[in-house]
Amino acid sequence: MRRPVVDMAVCTLCMGCIELCPEVFSENDAGYIAVADLKVYPEKLVEEAIKYCPVDAISWEEE
Ligand code: SF4
Repeated sequence: MRRPVVDMAVCTLCMGCIELCPEVFSENDAGYIAVADLKVYPEKLVEEAIKYCPVDAISWEEE
């Protein structure tokens, strides 16, 4: 099982990942990017978000 993680130290809050993949990425109350807790992540969409992210803040984390 692996899940996407966002490195908030580099994320610029461009919101691109939310536009691409709103079922996984959202903005939380604190104004940071939250990753939904899903059993299965839409691999292709997450891969697209990883490729899209201008600062390479998104990666897979093995659980
Ligand atoms: S695409 Fe990257 S920089 Fe933009 S909000 Fe998502 S994680 Fe942050």
